[in-house]
Amino acid sequence: MAKVLCVLYPDPVTGYPPAYARDTIPVIASYPGGESVPTPVSPLGFRPGSLLGSVSGELGLRPYLEANGHELIVTSDKDGADSTFDHHLPDADIVISQPFWPAYLTADRIDKAKKLKLALTAGIGSDHVDLKAAAAHGISVAEETYSNSISVAEHVVMMVLSLVRNYLPAHQYAVNGGWNIADCVSRSYDVEGMHFGTIGAGRIGMAVLKRLKSFDMHLHYMERYQQPEEVESKLGLQFHATPEELVAHCDVINLQVPLYPSTEGMFNDRMFDHMKRGSYLINTARGKLCDRDAVVRALNSGKLAGYAGDVWFPQPAPVEHPWRSMPFNGMTPHMSGSSLSAQARYAAGTLEILECFLNHRPIRPEYLIVDGGQLVGTGERSYQLA
Ligand code: NAD
Repeated sequence: MAKVLCVLYPDPVTGYPPAYARDTIPVIASYPGGESVPTPVSPLGFRPGSLLGSVSGELGLRPYLEANGHELIVTSDKDGADSTFDHHLPDADIVISQPFWPAYLTADRIDKAKKLKLALTAGIGSDHVDLKAAAAHGISVAEETYSNSISVAEHVVMMVLSLVRNYLPAHQYAVNGGWNIADCVSRSYDVEGMHFGTIGAGRIGMAVLKRLKSFDMHLHYMERYQQPEEVESKLGLQFHATPEELVAHCDVINLQVPLYPSTEGMFNDRMFDHMKRGSYLINTARGKLCDRDAVVRALNSGKLAGYAGDVWFPQPAPVEHPWRSMPFNGMTPHMSGSSLSAQARYAAGTLEILECFLNHRPIRPEYLIVDGGQLVGTGERSYQLA
């Protein structure tokens, strides 16, 4: 019998379940490139389209876990030494956490988690786990690759348009009863003809490039792995060897690399020096890829014309976090990868991984980040331990 400790974000302030806007979600048969959507053997413990990522939703895991004799603890109380998370961690076999409301598995916490064998990310991005410490302690780390990649790509496209066209302030004028056309348009441009570049062109980055192709933007990317020539020519992609080179050419820049020690703080004052005046920066990857205060300075100086994203550090962000109040921002709480559509996929993927792990069956390599003391699968391709 395993003890499963699951950290999820709190229920809606209006209560659970919420009033749903729609009755169904589309059925997605497979991901781009042909990877299959999650295929758990057991029946799903939820109705696709329902709110699964908050505490009462429990990712729909309780029926499966209890039917098989396992214990499930679900909490949103995750920070501080007196938290429910810290209380249960020492005898947990499996920890499940979502990047939106991360249970930070630091080296200290891993030291205390003597029974922990699996750190499972419900979603994508396992940087809230100290991967080096997990590897050293023989803890496996897994996530549901592709489950919310398209959800995030759609959010990025929305933010590119929102920032460049000055949508958010213009909407606010309308809500406030105004008709200030001149105020609305004095920072509004077309994206057509602009240069867009993504740093990191994995699942999300490539999906963004494909979607922006139809807006007649010039497309650039910087990656560890260069795309095949036929992909580059089909999308008209220009490859850059360094982030500095890419930002010097682009008007709109998207960050889509994982966070690991050597990508932390990639966007600092020095990087902003390489950018054109009036650039836009989108970051749905991780807050710590950017120097918090350098972003604020770049917006105030006009180097950046706008910054949007949904990732912060820490999460939840404190009320006084400067990204809440800096000018020309399109920030949201971390929500792009947790649409109801995405939740159905990552909850099913979490069930698939649990079934595999608890029944000693192999977990799909694309879901694995750390296993057997080292980076493997997607972890080996996308992360570094230093
Ligand atoms: P992915 O693994 O498919 O792609 C990551 C890409 O980054 C890989 O192709 C890798 O080669 C590249 N890369 C790694 N280090 C690099 C470096 N130093 N320079 C250039 N390229 C580098 O992952 P994905 O699904 O595209 O997701 C990317 C990231 O987005 C995740 O790691 C996560 O942090 C974030 N994410 C956020 C949300 C959200 O809700 N906001 C949801 C999913 C993922």
